[in-house]
Amino acid sequence: MSTKQRILLIEDEPHILLGLRDALEFEGFSVLTAQKGHDGVQLARSDKPDCVILDIMLPDINGYRVCEDIRRWDAHVPIIMLTARSQETDKIRGLDAGADDYVTKPFSVNELVARIRAIFRRAARTPGAPETFTLGDAAINLSAQTVTRGKSVEPLSFYEVELLRLLHSKVGVPVSRDEILAKVWGLEAAPTNRTVDNFVVKLRKKIEPLPDKPSHILTVYGTGYKLAL
Ligand code: CA
Repeated sequence: MSTKQRILLIEDEPHILLGLRDALEFEGFSVLTAQKGHDGVQLARSDKPDCVILDIMLPDINGYRVCEDIRRWDAHVPIIMLTARSQETDKIRGLDAGADDYVTKPFSVNELVARIRAIFRRAARTPGAPETFTLGDAAINLSAQTVTRGKSVEPLSFYEVELLRLLHSKVGVPVSRDEILAKVWGLEAAPTNRTVDNFVVKLRKKIEPLPDKPSHILTVYGTGYKLAL
């Protein structure tokens, strides 16, 4: 049985698709490819890849729609979007659709591979400290990747789990955006700190009773964030 990690690549531009496929295969990953959105959704469902790399501009349905479709039945698979757009609203739209991260074209293949490696490195890590804890009326389960409030259970994405794990390992202590990007996203240099801020806004909606007046994931001005139990 193959133990290779499988990556689904959904991209319609042949030179990017083939270039990335070759680079990822060279790195030891097994790569599935689709050039249309619908085909990508089908493959994600039938072959259950370990990670999805998804272009936004596709010939049939766009990447946001593909992302939403995949998220309907798989809350957890890490999804990285490839975007030619660098506008903040497009990135937020991608995160809202359920993407975990995005890379702006033209991107460096090495950087993308580094991000994918970071995902798998952390996915393979042996769990340490408590995998469950409560924040007010929200019960967080990092292993199950869920947040439960009353009768509502919401899935947490891969990066949301990693962010909560990091903040919880340092309760009450400010964690800088750079440290968050390095430890959660596996990035050496921050492409944009707004990535973290956009992510926190989304996570607060799942966890905080009043997302606009957070009582658990607190902003530390000029630094980053800290967790209050
Ligand atoms: Ca495209």
